[in-house]
Amino acid sequence: MIDLLIKNVTIITMDAHRNVIQRGDIAIKDGKILSIGTDLVFEAQKTIDGTNCVAMPGLVNAHTHVYQALIEGIGYDMHFDPWNWRFLFPVVSKMSPEHAEVSAEVAAIEMIKSGTTTVSDHWYMHTDLQNIYRVTDTFDRAGLRAQMVYGLLDQTFAGERIESEYMTMIQRQDVLLAEARRYYDQYHNKKRTTVALGPGSTEDISEGLMLKTRDLARELDINVSTHVAGWIEINAYTMRKFGKRDLEHLHAIGLTGPHGVFFHSVWLSNHEIEILAETGSKVVHCPMANSYLGYGIAPVSQMLSRGITVGLGTDGAASYTYDLWEVGRAAAMLQKATKLDGEAITAEEILEMMTIGGARALGLEKEIGSVEVGKKADIILIDFNQLHLLPDARYVPKLVYSTHGSDVKDVIIDGQLVMENHKVTTLSEEKVMARAMSARKDLIAMAGQDTRDLLAAPWPKQGPYWRAITKEQG
Ligand SMILES: [Zn+2]
Repeated sequence: MIDLLIKNVTIITMDAHRNVIQRGDIAIKDGKILSIGTDLVFEAQKTIDGTNCVAMPGLVNAHTHVYQALIEGIGYDMHFDPWNWRFLFPVVSKMSPEHAEVSAEVAAIEMIKSGTTTVSDHWYMHTDLQNIYRVTDTFDRAGLRAQMVYGLLDQTFAGERIESEYMTMIQRQDVLLAEARRYYDQYHNKKRTTVALGPGSTEDISEGLMLKTRDLARELDINVSTHVAGWIEINAYTMRKFGKRDLEHLHAIGLTGPHGVFFHSVWLSNHEIEILAETGSKVVHCPMANSYLGYGIAPVSQMLSRGITVGLGTDGAASYTYDLWEVGRAAAMLQKATKLDGEAITAEEILEMMTIGGARALGLEKEIGSVEVGKKADIILIDFNQLHLLPDARYVPKLVYSTHGSDVKDVIIDGQLVMENHKVTTLSEEKVMARAMSARKDLIAMAGQDTRDLLAAPWPKQGPYWRAITKEQG
């Protein structure tokens, strides 16, 4: 007796040969893929008819900050810096475990509903040291697989000086290192969670903590995941301080290598791309957030042509979505448009970044990222029986260029059916909606005058509304 049998489905395996199986079956037992073939005969606890559906590995959102799930739209069309100090800091500096939990529930439901089965959340919002525990437990309750990146900030947050009343997430080095170790002991390789260490960025943590983080990660044999060259100003900062560009500096102090996971990697020189290739370092590309903030476009085609592992991430509120299909599509369009070359990147490369590439970026490729016998059963079914998709065509371009998160019908993680026929089975959407509304109200009540002005502001006469408010006040 097996747990789950998916019948009569088109399987995009993403295995080493990139096999595609027409009208195949997948047998799942004890959280793993037991067998893949045609006309499999098993007695199963549950059978899913996959007619006119595509089965493929679950998507990997390799970088986000779910604490921002409740604040999308609070401050918009702004540079990162004024957005932070006018809108983000006043709200998140008071983030409690309750807010943390609700934000994780909101993001988890959006991710599951759009086919993400593994998330890597970079959590540095230690305004309360319990926050990350609540978030991890929430992902676990939702059924998501997670690589939790224990964030470390001891110097600034988003460049804000430590003396600011809002810098409640900055903690002392010794506290962070002890807490990170305690958190690792409790969660690493437990249930569906793995742990990595996450310096905020070169700017946000002191050199001493960066080196100690590197040493702790080496001792624990885990990833160090950090924002690298995501904004052009960071290279000026590292040049002034270390005489090197951001990634060159991280390379010089031993952060590169197969355990080095670098978010954004937009402002890289050719030399730095060579460093990534030669050291086997990983990149997480966040095209929606990079575009929205006006931060530029990472040289992804070039990285792929050098054999660098690239995964995709939504990042936080700046992408306005947890739907990785949108991120994949943005990644494709940006490379093609800026290279003036429709062949600059392919649908197959994008689908790889969304699945096995993301798994590789997190170091989880032996367990997830493809539909193969022996791997964990993290599988999604996409309903192609719809006019904007149409079954029995070439599936990959339709997956990358036409599919929306809402086309995902079933989600299986670790063999567990966490969404069945568009209904999440692990969390109640109605309850989370009510909690989210109440938490948002709470956050707005705590927010500053700028947020209250924004909520009452009329349609702007010209340009972004927040400049108009500044002018009238000034
Ligand atoms: Zn980020």
